[in-house]
Amino acid sequence: MKQLQIRDVKTILTAPERSNLVVVKIETNEPGLFGLGCATFTQRHAVVHTAIEEYLKPFLIGKDPQRIEDIWQTGMVHSYWRNGPVLNNALSGVDMALWDIKGKLAGMPLYQLWGGKCREGAAVYRHADGRDEHEVEENVRAYMEQGYKYIRCQMGGYGGRHAKVQSPENALPGAYFDPDVYARSVPRMLEHLRNKVGFEPEFIHDVHERLSPIEAVRLAKQLEPYRLFFLEDPLAPEQLDWFRMIRSQCATPIGIGELFVNPREWMPLISEGLIDFIRCHISAIGGITPAKKLAHLCEAYSIRTAWHGPGDVSPVGHAANLHLSIGMSNFGIQEWYGPTDRLREVFPGTPEVRNGFMYPNDLPGLGVDINEELAAKYPCKNENPAWTLARLPDGTSARP
Ligand code: MG
Repeated sequence: MKQLQIRDVKTILTAPERSNLVVVKIETNEPGLFGLGCATFTQRHAVVHTAIEEYLKPFLIGKDPQRIEDIWQTGMVHSYWRNGPVLNNALSGVDMALWDIKGKLAGMPLYQLWGGKCREGAAVYRHADGRDEHEVEENVRAYMEQGYKYIRCQMGGYGGRHAKVQSPENALPGAYFDPDVYARSVPRMLEHLRNKVGFEPEFIHDVHERLSPIEAVRLAKQLEPYRLFFLEDPLAPEQLDWFRMIRSQCATPIGIGELFVNPREWMPLISEGLIDFIRCHISAIGGITPAKKLAHLCEAYSIRTAWHGPGDVSPVGHAANLHLSIGMSNFGIQEWYGPTDRLREVFPGTPEVRNGFMYPNDLPGLGVDINEELAAKYPCKNENPAWTLARLPDGTSARP
């Protein structure tokens, strides 16, 4: 075979559902041999697009696509400044596409390349929301009937939104929430759910960094009797020292990672055994190459994976999650949101979920394709979602 080379790098922007998705397509000089990767940073898709087109594309043309590790290492430091969400996502688009090509060259689904299946399907969790605990219960029961055992339970989005907020005069607009009202509502919701549906389903709850550190410690302690599968993001990446306090106070399992972009964020939490589940947004940490290393590091400390898998991960990214979840021994759970038929048309091969488990197809590589003509019919929009402008009752800016 002639020397394999990267012939072209394309950035495909599409929003078949609400979220802006960024997908990288790497074409080679071998006719028909290409790879796809997810570079989705939904709120800043145009900046990732520029990073790929202006910097990574000229860096990659002519290189051997089989040299994934070398391209990842050089791509990471090529800008000198590194470890931020924009450049990590751009590099992830390239990295996943190279792994996709590697699988196609081998004629194998990607999980085969890291040692084969550890399980036939990956258990997934769904997101049940409701205005009050009764509506959450209804939605939990509906998911249970569909075969789901793992359910994330939330009241009013990420909570505290339905509080009667008393603000100063001329308070600025924003997505107001009351952390105290939210904190009091969660034990009430879980008390109700455990009383009504018992301890058979596994429950997850996402704090979404909405509490002060000491309130997060208090909530983790209060939730201990309800035996959560894990409590998600009780603290922000800027408050990592407080995880020691949570750990010393209670045995509520902890999951974090969707906002992580730098290994220095996860290393102390893992090496000190302060968390139970790592749930990075794989494209935000730079793709499959760093995610594999992170999963292996976690395995050494008995920490399981729960990769971030909402609607602002493209089906290509969901497939990357799935291949890691199927092929790594320390898999815990996979987040899943249920894509529409329209998204499946744009991305043939989007992973399937049946009776609570996600299954890979048998195609080589990631197993997902893209219909570029159809993708172009759903352009991205430059609108930031309203929930990202979060405010506390007195109008102070807050983490969303
Ligand atoms: Mg979350």
